[in-house]
Amino acid sequence: MKKNINTPDGAINYFILGNRNSSAKYLILAGKHGNEPESVVMAEEYIMPYLRKNNYFGKFFIILPNLNPLQIGRCLEAIETNQSFEHCRRFRLNKNKIDLNADYPTKNSDTPSLRAEQTKLVISLHEEYNFDLILDFHTNGASHMNIYKYDNEVGRYLARGMNRINSVVARDYVHHKNKGVALSGTSGTYFGKERNVPIITVELGARKYIKRPFNEHCQNLWDLHKPALRYLFADVMPDENDEDYQDYVRCLGEEDDDGDGCGTNGISAT
Ligand SMILES: [Zn+2]
Repeated sequence: MKKNINTPDGAINYFILGNRNSSAKYLILAGKHGNEPESVVMAEEYIMPYLRKNNYFGKFFIILPNLNPLQIGRCLEAIETNQSFEHCRRFRLNKNKIDLNADYPTKNSDTPSLRAEQTKLVISLHEEYNFDLILDFHTNGASHMNIYKYDNEVGRYLARGMNRINSVVARDYVHHKNKGVALSGTSGTYFGKERNVPIITVELGARKYIKRPFNEHCQNLWDLHKPALRYLFADVMPDENDEDYQDYVRCLGEEDDDGDGCGTNGISAT
């Protein structure tokens, strides 16, 4: 089922898909940043058809493939007219100059009241459906690296599982540059740290060095990330059926091996 809301950034579509009776509920977000159109292409042209073809792996999905359509469109136009990716930097925020990835009412937020309609929609969808996993697609800033960023323990477990498949770096969203301080206003902090909902911010990766056409660049990104995404969609879900996950949870916080299989000689929680 397709629905939408109207915003100053254009119509925000959201798709309610898959098995409504599934206990595994996924939320997929893309296109918060107008200068990151790869994320929208990934959601619309690769992930959604892939999930449909696989009957949603029996799970429930809500997908918002383009949270900043006005600016994403401007960036795609610029790419079509052969302007550099750097040209799109001016389209990063939404029409009202809001960073859609810094708009969440986290505890330490500078702007604790919600501003963008699409942020309100995401939060209300979570309040209605109580998602088990959130994926938020971006490309990366100056480093142009591909990274799987996590915000809580389950996110770490899943991001490390993805890393084992394709070697894309998995790391805590709050890294040394932030000196351990939770990022203000991000969906990662809001959902992952403050509500303990596993969320993985997928930084798709390295456009700086891409010489090939944009569609080939996106195909390349899909080829890289698809096996790790398949792992999330098909192979693993933090639930009672996943023994590795249950072991992981059982061992959380255990530093030493005290004979219960956790710690240095067992499943490490660190
Ligand atoms: Zn971004």
